[in-house]
Amino acid sequence: MEIKEIFDTMVYGPAPESAAPAVDFLESHNRTFDLFINGEWTKPSSKKYMESHNPANKELLAKFAEADEKDVDKAVKAAKEALPKWAALSGFERAKYLYAIARQIQKHSRLFAVLETLDNGKPIRETRDIDIPIVVRHFYHHAGWAKLMDTELKDYKEVGVIGQIIPWNFPLMMLAWKVAPALAMGNTVVLKPAEYTSLTALLFAEICEKVGLPKGVFNIVTGKGTVAGTALVNHKEVNKVAFTGSTNVGKIIRREIAGSGKKISLELGGKSPFIVFEDADIDSAIEGIVDAIWFNQGQVCCAGSRLLVQESIAEKFYAKLKERMVKLRVGNPMDKAIDMGAIVDETQFKTIDKLVKLGISEGCEIYQAKNAVPKNGFFYPPTLFTDVSTSTTIAQEEIFGPVLVAMTFRSHNEAVALANNSRYGLAASIWTENINLALDIAPKVKAGAVWINCTNQFDASAGFGGYRESGFGREGGKEGLYEYTKPKIEEEFSAKPIIPKAVKSKTEKKSKSILEDIDRTAKMYIGGKQARPDGGYSIDIKNAFGEYIGEVSEGNRKDIRNAVEAAHAEKSWAGMTGHARAQVLYYIAENLAIRSEEFAERIVEMTNQSLESAQEEVEKSIERIYTYAAFADKYDGQAHSTVKRMVTLAMPEAVGVMGIVCPEENPLLGFISTVIPAIAMGNNVVVIPSEKHPFSATDFYQILETSDVPGGTINIVTGHKDELAKEMAKHYNIDGIWYFGTKEGCKDVEFLAADSMKRTWLNFGKYRNWMDNAQGEGEEFLRHATEIKNIWIPYGA
Ligand code: NDP
Repeated sequence: MEIKEIFDTMVYGPAPESAAPAVDFLESHNRTFDLFINGEWTKPSSKKYMESHNPANKELLAKFAEADEKDVDKAVKAAKEALPKWAALSGFERAKYLYAIARQIQKHSRLFAVLETLDNGKPIRETRDIDIPIVVRHFYHHAGWAKLMDTELKDYKEVGVIGQIIPWNFPLMMLAWKVAPALAMGNTVVLKPAEYTSLTALLFAEICEKVGLPKGVFNIVTGKGTVAGTALVNHKEVNKVAFTGSTNVGKIIRREIAGSGKKISLELGGKSPFIVFEDADIDSAIEGIVDAIWFNQGQVCCAGSRLLVQESIAEKFYAKLKERMVKLRVGNPMDKAIDMGAIVDETQFKTIDKLVKLGISEGCEIYQAKNAVPKNGFFYPPTLFTDVSTSTTIAQEEIFGPVLVAMTFRSHNEAVALANNSRYGLAASIWTENINLALDIAPKVKAGAVWINCTNQFDASAGFGGYRESGFGREGGKEGLYEYTKPKIEEEFSAKPIIPKAVKSKTEKKSKSILEDIDRTAKMYIGGKQARPDGGYSIDIKNAFGEYIGEVSEGNRKDIRNAVEAAHAEKSWAGMTGHARAQVLYYIAENLAIRSEEFAERIVEMTNQSLESAQEEVEKSIERIYTYAAFADKYDGQAHSTVKRMVTLAMPEAVGVMGIVCPEENPLLGFISTVIPAIAMGNNVVVIPSEKHPFSATDFYQILETSDVPGGTINIVTGHKDELAKEMAKHYNIDGIWYFGTKEGCKDVEFLAADSMKRTWLNFGKYRNWMDNAQGEGEEFLRHATEIKNIWIPYGA
């Protein structure tokens, strides 16, 4: 083609990146990689190797070892052995390693970018300009956290050996998001990369060797998820599992580790809304969509895959979008002027195609630009569906490909309702020139990241992670560090419940005087009213010496259901300011103080402890309410320092409707210590009080009724604790559950919570001394009562 012709047509010429450095790297390993265990390249015990192909041309790139249980065991043992020394290093020493890793990746950034593109099929433009810079940034940022750990997280320590499992869509980036904070906080790691894309992780291992990272601190077991992944998750010496991938596998993993006491964070799928209001800058929004759904061929967990456009501009918007789609260049990902590369593998390609065909058969209107798409590799054209109804599969399921489904809305409320009409809650994009509108909508959308007039923004200093079936836990930012640390105070927890001594003589006197002439059966408390149990049964309550002292209602599944409905129906509490909630909490404390003698006597009646110790429990309860009243308007967020010309607001939000299963010990204080922090943060709660000693909770109704607590904010269902807890764990409309009870109870709750992917906080058979402020209260409670939402707001005229 002549130059004049090029000027006339403005067609792109080829601009290929050279694969030579990556090929040299592969050749230097004879295109065969072993496992990286204890700082050594180790042959797999299975002697088997798997193949990695370039999805853009199907050529074999390299073979890598297929780890089995024995290899995983070896790697975990190496990590365990390396742990004490690594954790004992000063933050400064660990920072130096992380800093050296960041420098090395930066110095070899082009090699990493090329290798990633060859292995994954994503455009070199993206690996070079987005993936690898973010990786480098993560290691620098966390080098800083390593240094600051001693002062900024002085009450926390490492978790131990971390098993990390990552997907294929951002192979090195996911490695960095997991490895950098884990190492910074003094943990050691065994990583299982995705089988489609293990190569950059293996190159990363070489960097670790080069910087002299102590042996065993970082290990790689390549291979199959169902073999190496499962072995890693289930290994007894693994203290935490961090997983990114599909929601289905996330659920499997959660069930597998249920009750083990392992920490877990899950970053799962999404079906994120991209909301365009009629006053949006349309051209910017169109470019936003390109970045939202055609970035990385749409294989992005937070892809803006559901376009919601205000009806008044929909026609014009779709026309412009289609025009833009025609201009997207799909082809050789090593070409620097390519917009979209290849799908990672044939299996994924077929999954996308199947869902697209299903969309057509469900009656949605499809548009695929007639872009030239190479035939040799797994290339899929950019695809748009319009006329999509909310109930279709393509509107609900994650397609994980370059497929956008579009719907329209009329009112702001409808936009929010459509946005939240998903089992996922990972991210959202809001497009409007009206900042007031954007900031009104952002808190209403259930998503961990909300981008206003921008999309797919990531930075090491901002947490990323989901709500609902998108998983839980955050990666990045200070909020992400808590996933790789645990409170030092946990070491002081006891193996047995701490129960005050029962004293026989006082019992007889008290039980007689109170119950002599009035028959009292405590009802349940639902929606601000006392409610009889659905089943019509009551349970006898006895004191510490087995003597009958009264009855409570026996709640069942339907009572839990009613309580959850009441909690959802109550809308005012979450909308109140922290100050207003604090006022109500102070009022509760005041009313409890007025009746403190009566509450102390009730504790004595149930537990037969001394009156003095019961009085102390009541006093501590009042003090604890004060703590959370104080926190209600002080536990706030941060403006993270992320990218240029961007305000990133990290806002703690209430989890929603929480299930609280109170400890058996300390009938009143256990109830207060768990319920009050949850409501202080704006949650509505369904509470199962102590099974043996429920009367402190049932007596509390009167305090709630006289303290301006809205009906429906605290709902109390009495009965068999573990049976009711299981019902709560299964319930789809409970967003989070705290359980303080037995090891077995923890296991059941964690297992059953996996289906709805609700957040859990469990004591795993370790017991707090609720009378001790260091163990019984504090910010940890508030962190478990909130989710951090990061709202990204660009600025500049
Ligand atoms: P998976 O969830 O299966 O894979 C993610 C990682 O988990 C891989 O390393 C995988 O290993 C491993 N794994 C698989 N099964 C197990 C198991 N039972 N125990 C432990 N580890 C396991 O995702 P897929 O690759 O199968 O993709 C399927 C779908 O998942 C996609 O279409 C997409 O919808 C979604 N997905 C979401 C991602 C996200 O970031 N949210 C990322 C990737 C996929 P192996 O590579 O051997 O399979």
